[in-house]
Amino acid sequence: MRIDMPAPVRAAISRLEACGWQAYAVGGCIRDSLLGREPHDWDVTTEALPEQVKEAFGGQKVIETGIRHGTVTLLADGMPIEITTFRHDGAYKDHRRPERVEYVRRLQEDLARRDFTVNAMAYSDRTGMIDCFGGREDLKAHRMRCVGDPMQRFEEDALRIMRCIRFASELVFTVEEATAEAACTLAPTLSAIAMERIRVEFVRLLCGAGAEITLRHYRRIPAVFIPEIRDTFCCDQQNDYHIYSVWDHILHAVGQIEPRPVLRLAAFFHDIGKPVCKTVTEEGWGHFYHHEHVGADMTDKIMRRMKFDNKTREQVVRLVKTHGIVFQPTGKQPARLLRRMGEETLQQLIALERADVKSQAPQFRAERLERIGAFENAMQKLVKEEACFSLRDLAVNGRDLLAAGVPRGPAVGDALEMLLSQVTDGEIANERTALLQCLKEHNLVKD
Ligand code: ATP
Ligand code: MG
Repeated sequence: MRIDMPAPVRAAISRLEACGWQAYAVGGCIRDSLLGREPHDWDVTTEALPEQVKEAFGGQKVIETGIRHGTVTLLADGMPIEITTFRHDGAYKDHRRPERVEYVRRLQEDLARRDFTVNAMAYSDRTGMIDCFGGREDLKAHRMRCVGDPMQRFEEDALRIMRCIRFASELVFTVEEATAEAACTLAPTLSAIAMERIRVEFVRLLCGAGAEITLRHYRRIPAVFIPEIRDTFCCDQQNDYHIYSVWDHILHAVGQIEPRPVLRLAAFFHDIGKPVCKTVTEEGWGHFYHHEHVGADMTDKIMRRMKFDNKTREQVVRLVKTHGIVFQPTGKQPARLLRRMGEETLQQLIALERADVKSQAPQFRAERLERIGAFENAMQKLVKEEACFSLRDLAVNGRDLLAAGVPRGPAVGDALEMLLSQVTDGEIANERTALLQCLKEHNLVKD
């Protein structure tokens, strides 16, 4: 079997071999090539020590990216290739991978330290595929399986638990039984792992093609670092609008929305406030008053705890807070929301509403989707017409207002805002004379 490696990778391997060292492409790039997916980076493993690698590429740019772990990065024609010396990890403690590594002589030992069989294959044109742990078979069966004893491998490094379900989601794989059981059993040890690292894996999991199904099977794992979701698992909605529990509804919404981080996160968190807000009438009808606001506060706390960047957090919290809005395609609402939220956020809200509705009881779906579609059309029409949405687009500016007699100071800003809302609400045209006339009518100018 031949793998079509990029020319710089093939050249790097040949160069190391010419210097007398074994070298192979290894890990994710081999897995992705076999799956017909585009690898995002190419890693090389070699018996040469980092100093020897540098020597082999004398004259080329080699950066000491992780020299303590035996890794250097070769910049070959602008393509970064990580070259790592055969190694295994030193003693493990606290469920984390160790700082110190030990170099080993044989490729097989290097492959044995890798997390999953599908990540533990190496290849060179000289030797062909080297697959000591049944990686190809697991790839064919679409299955994640630990190299070696899963309990031991997850005990060594709890991040592997997240990597396991992240790969399952991204590749739409199942998890082999013993691996799955160990992952669930040891999920609580994730608390030893830095939140930033968990977060990266969690977002990738959410954006995977198999996110819905992976979360359905392995909800116990995210529940370790987002315990707030536990209450949604069995929260029955008890009304005609819903056919799923809150958790199942959330999962459907995640599966229905485009795989972009802000959207998937918003879908994941949109109804997290429901269990806390649930009330049931005497007739047995469930209500969830204010769950958007409660949910937005919860989302804010969770995302801070998970050390999300401010922008992502603010965007997601805003969507959670605004979701459930009843769109009014005719009238002033499209222009108002467009002004208040901006085009990008409003488009995200529309996407969230669609996913939400698609995950509700089917008898209301068609009518609600139609309404959302009509709202979106109205909004897009406004955007196309380049209607005036920001102060910058207004046909008058602060200087014009001063010249017209608005007193210097905060009154200028207030007057501009007032004019803007008049224009976006369709009360007056965005024309100089109309705007100045409007100022007079509102008694904002000194005569
Ligand atoms: P992707 O780049 O899509 O995340 P990948 O498999 O290349 O997938 P990396 O994190 O780039 O993942 O790691 C490269 C290789 O290093 C993996 O394929 C695996 O063999 C090994 N590896 C990475 N992290 C671990 C870990 N925590 N435990 C054991 N092996 C690991
Ligand atoms: Mg990689």
